[in-house]
Amino acid sequence: MTSLKKTLTTLSKAVLFGLILTFTFSLKANAMTIVLDPGHGGPGTSGAGALYPPYMEKSLNLAVASQIKSELEAAGIKTYMTRTGDVSLDLQQRAAYAKSVNADLLISIHFNSSGSHAYTGSEVWTSLYGSYYTTGYSLGSNILQQLSGLGLQSKGVKTKLGNSGDYYGLIRYGVAQAVPSIIVEHCFMDNAYDRSILEANGPSGIGHATATGIINYVNSVGGAGATLPKSNPIALVEGATSGGSTAGTAVAPTVKANTGTASTASSKTTAAASVGFSKDAAGNTIFTDKNGNTGTFTPAEWNKLLGNWAYTGNAEYYIRQVPLGDLNAMVGK
Ligand SMILES: [Zn+2]
Repeated sequence: MTSLKKTLTTLSKAVLFGLILTFTFSLKANAMTIVLDPGHGGPGTSGAGALYPPYMEKSLNLAVASQIKSELEAAGIKTYMTRTGDVSLDLQQRAAYAKSVNADLLISIHFNSSGSHAYTGSEVWTSLYGSYYTTGYSLGSNILQQLSGLGLQSKGVKTKLGNSGDYYGLIRYGVAQAVPSIIVEHCFMDNAYDRSILEANGPSGIGHATATGIINYVNSVGGAGATLPKSNPIALVEGATSGGSTAGTAVAPTVKANTGTASTASSKTTAAASVGFSKDAAGNTIFTDKNGNTGTFTPAEWNKLLGNWAYTGNAEYYIRQVPLGDLNAMVGK
């Protein structure tokens, strides 16, 4: 190699290296990054979230999130999902994942249901704190504006206080990682009116509306090339035990009953009070599943199972659909 060639090669290597550096730097520093979190997930009904045949919330969440992802990417926004399959993740894992990709926003995708089937509309939950509130409020308002364009009632962007700060775990863990986090409850999938809109638009139509709202928000803060200013994380309260998760863990259905409006809680009581199976002398429930398998549950076990489906308003119907072996596993037998 001549010395001139050597010089040129070295020079071009340096230029190339410089380009790579610039490119890498611009990807990291100058691109909006959003993590979409399809709520719930996990085998069978344990991670289903709300259940209302033919809908399982976990599947609907995933379908809607996938639509949103493709539209955000088409708009030049770096987009990741906490799950792309039917897997169980806890809330800390979802928030930690958002942090690991240096997300500007964590958006958790959900659908609601209520015991009475009477509740309607879309709502967004955001953090109580400072810039996390203002970011979530603005983002949520943009999303709700689009969902209301489909005919869904907008119930607003809300906060909820628990005894360790933000009530909802996803938001609490998200802002503890300095990632502004919101939960979008798209509509009540068990309500006849909301369902008619869901079915008219499909998951892709619902996802399109939410994606449009997100893109409108991103444009309002400088576009896909911008990043949001980082705020200090909100410290987690040590030893806090308050609930408010919307996790896809085995306890998700119980927790789901706490999601959304306070009135959901009263419907839970109503559902749990109804009895469709006979009791033995000791008060144990004599249960028969749809396959004809018979088992006995103590009052404590039975209440635990009822709690898992309380938000459906017809808990015993749903319990009957689950094989006895799965129910035994749920109560640790
Ligand atoms: Zn949910």
